[in-house]
Amino acid sequence: MRIVVVGGGYAGVLAANRLAKAVEAEITVVNPRPDFVERVRLHQQVAGTAVAAGPLGSMLRAGIATRVAAAHKVGDGTVTLDDGSTLDFDYALLAVGSTVEPMAGTVPIGSWEGAQRARAALAALPAGAVVAVVGGGATGVETAAEVAAARPDLRVRIVGSPVAATFTGRARRLVRDGLARVGVEVTDDEVVAVDGGDVALASGTGFAADLVLWAIVSGVPELAAASGLDVDADGRVLVDEFLRSTSDERVFAIGDCAGVPGTRFACQSATDQAGHAASALAAMIAGRGPKPYSVRYLARCVTLGRRAAVAQFTHLDDTPRDTALSGRTAAVLKELATRGAKFGARAGFGA
Ligand SMILES: Cc1cc2nc3c(=O)[nH]c(=O)nc-3n(C[C@H](O)[C@H](O)[C@H](O)COP(=O)(O)OP(=O)(O)OC[C@H]3O[C@@H](n4cnc5c(N)ncnc54)[C@H](O)[C@@H]3O)c2cc1C
Repeated sequence: MRIVVVGGGYAGVLAANRLAKAVEAEITVVNPRPDFVERVRLHQQVAGTAVAAGPLGSMLRAGIATRVAAAHKVGDGTVTLDDGSTLDFDYALLAVGSTVEPMAGTVPIGSWEGAQRARAALAALPAGAVVAVVGGGATGVETAAEVAAARPDLRVRIVGSPVAATFTGRARRLVRDGLARVGVEVTDDEVVAVDGGDVALASGTGFAADLVLWAIVSGVPELAAASGLDVDADGRVLVDEFLRSTSDERVFAIGDCAGVPGTRFACQSATDQAGHAASALAAMIAGRGPKPYSVRYLARCVTLGRRAAVAQFTHLDDTPRDTALSGRTAAVLKELATRGAKFGARAGFGA
């Protein structure tokens, strides 16, 4: 039995480790770099408050093979790699995450390479320089706050329409208050162009910035569509209730690249789906009936520097509750969740 896991992020690592415990199989994880990138810490990588990558091998159980390459095609029982070689499989799990599509003139922080560039550019900025963060979602909020808290000598401005849109009611006010507390200027607007440091806004106004960070994660790799798998309008793999591709039952899709209705790009969804798909596959191999997957969210949480955070609790279907935690308690909770995601992936814990 050969199982190929394409993508060595949270979903791929967790699924590979769980399968290694549950089935007798040759398991190979394909990833473009020899490191596991702790993507939820990329804003810290940018601000210099953490190193968000470490050896992929140390995240995987003994016996799991790795291939440092990018997959170009998955189908007909074969994964084709960018070096021209192939890996045959009985089952494959697609876990290639999501992508960034930065506007010209900006540096994306949602990819490892972009975060590395942003870290170097930020470190070179003199006191008084202006940093603009584009994107009012969780990634933008965390990035702006992390940079402002780590570099109080800079002027940091976040632009989103509106900023903290993924929170509601009191939680949104707490996030915006938290940004103000670390000195971030909040602009509710949309960036339409960046030209030589001039940031143009949809309102017709603009401002000058020394560094513009693109903090929006959107889209998924073209691999699934290019492989001829059924995908939704966003390019995410269409899956059945067991997280198998609707066009190829040997291929499962998990994490950001999976088109599971009612889900958003999140570590919570990635680890949950990875655990579920691995258990479903193990059950199928053992001749047992797998259980259908159902979405389960707990909270939306953002850090506001290292000392504060806001967590808004949600119903299982991700609709927000009125309950929110803030300050130190929320920061401790978020740090535990961040460590838990990495630990869970390494241990194969998930749904
Ligand atoms: C700054 C930031 C903060 C975030 N904070 C949070 C948070 O607080 N909570 C939360 O729930 N989510 C958060 N997220 C989102 C979260 O990081 C993602 O939803 C999560 O990483 C998805 O896991 P994944 O395994 O699907 O994808 P990833 O972790 O992105 O892993 C995908 C892997 O596949 C590899 N890959 C891509 N293409 C190929 C290919 N062709 N062949 C082989 N390998 C390939 C990639 O290089 C990568 O290693 C944050 C994201 C960012 C950027």
